[in-house]
Amino acid sequence: MGLRELLNGVRWGVHPHDDHKRPAADVPLRVMPLPARLCVPLLQHVGAPALPVVAVGERVLRGQLIAAAQGNVSAPVHAPSSGVISAIGEVTAPHPSGLPFSAITIELDGKDEAGEPLTPQVDPFSLAPAEVSQRIADAGIVGLGGATFPSAPKAQLGLKLSVHTLIINGGECEPYLSSDDSVMRVRADEVIDGVRILMHATGATKALVGIEDNKPEATAAMRKAAEGFASIEIRPVPARYPMGSDRQLVQVLTGKEVPSGARTASIGVLVNNVSTCAAIHRAVRVGEPLYRRIVTVNGGAVAQPGNVLAPIGVLIEDLLRFVGLKETPARLVMGGPMMGVALPHAQVPTVKGCGGILALTAGEITDTAPSACIRCGSCVKACPMGLLPLELSAHIHAGEYDKAEAKGLDDCLACGCCAYVCPSHVPLVQTFYHAKGEVWKRAQQKKRTEFTKSLAQARKERLEREARERVEAAARRKAERAAQQAAAQQAATSASANTAGGASA
Ligand code: SF4
Ligand code: SF4
Repeated sequence: MGLRELLNGVRWGVHPHDDHKRPAADVPLRVMPLPARLCVPLLQHVGAPALPVVAVGERVLRGQLIAAAQGNVSAPVHAPSSGVISAIGEVTAPHPSGLPFSAITIELDGKDEAGEPLTPQVDPFSLAPAEVSQRIADAGIVGLGGATFPSAPKAQLGLKLSVHTLIINGGECEPYLSSDDSVMRVRADEVIDGVRILMHATGATKALVGIEDNKPEATAAMRKAAEGFASIEIRPVPARYPMGSDRQLVQVLTGKEVPSGARTASIGVLVNNVSTCAAIHRAVRVGEPLYRRIVTVNGGAVAQPGNVLAPIGVLIEDLLRFVGLKETPARLVMGGPMMGVALPHAQVPTVKGCGGILALTAGEITDTAPSACIRCGSCVKACPMGLLPLELSAHIHAGEYDKAEAKGLDDCLACGCCAYVCPSHVPLVQTFYHAKGEVWKRAQQKKRTEFTKSLAQARKERLEREARERVEAAARRKAERAAQQAAAQQAATSASANTAGGASA
């Protein structure tokens, strides 16, 4: 461990010997020519999917709204180029399951004709924070670091919770990926302007931009762009995975720990990614919705690895055709090798949160057979959340999910550091993924059981109430009948008394 790490108190995480970033990071950004078709997914973010506002056969222009947000936590979707809608239906989701999800397919006409910008050009700092947030919402901006939470409600939350500091994530610690690095080098001015706009929208008075110290060019470009803005500080952080994780970056930059189960906003901090800030700049200053982004295409099977500006919804096979392949990939991954997802095939579209596509060779995949745990403790040292991965794993294998939860399963980031350092190749992170899924399923089952119980209880109470009401109604009717009979009896008695009185008179 180096002195710098000790000074920063960073003792967790891993530092892969070869981070495989160079082949892609070293070449200039390329713009991908438009493919024949795009499949633009309706759900590309945390929250509710967007609702289509176009029909099959309709011609659309670049930047035109094609699906509207529904609800607060949702984001609209825009056409990345001009063409004709050929289908609104299911395509394969970027997930190992290969399950379908809804998308709008556009056959591009190659003209790339632009629609009207979203909003008139005004100084964003003359707008009320709520108006800035609305512009961010209208442009469909979501967190581009992979979390994909819609950015506008996050900014509104910042204002509501009196957030004082923005942490801007330029960490990008996953091996192979360099799309954020590329954004910072090529678009540093846009990133810094986006940071300033976000500070205005959230009410934050300070911004700390954390950049891993293995990105000197990005750090220099960002420092230059931030000159003259005293409230924005560019801070190198140790290159150590998972430095790009919100909690770890907050801790390193502010010295504060986010409590377990709480959001960073609870300690007055909001985290946003550098690519998100560049997208916010374009949305607010130019009225450009989020319909394209920089994607790293890398891996041993790629002929010309690099960072590519590509439309959202481009099929992976088109992206790979553009960069070329040296051999058939043994595995395709969306995201980085530590936290990304393996893809079922290449006919899958990119989404807003996709910062990288990896085409890996068999030699790059380390699927070594596991052996027994030797209790070396390496996984404990590596865990950035201070968990005991070997104990968590033992509880899960014993089916003791409640004990695993008590030992912090919820806090596990699924970062994979423990599995990476394990000399026995124990599939720790896969076990935690499985356990999180199992805990979620059990919680859903419990909710369903409780719901069914509450329905049964409500039915029982309704039946009892109805039976009670029937008895009460019968008693009421009986009493009414008795009263009517008594009244009739009384009337008959009075009538006969009157008749007898009249006769004697
Ligand atoms: S790193 Fe692997 S072998 Fe070592 S204690 Fe953890 S699980 Fe066991
Ligand atoms: S236990 Fe979870 S948070 Fe800790 S190293 Fe393993 S995957 Fe990462």
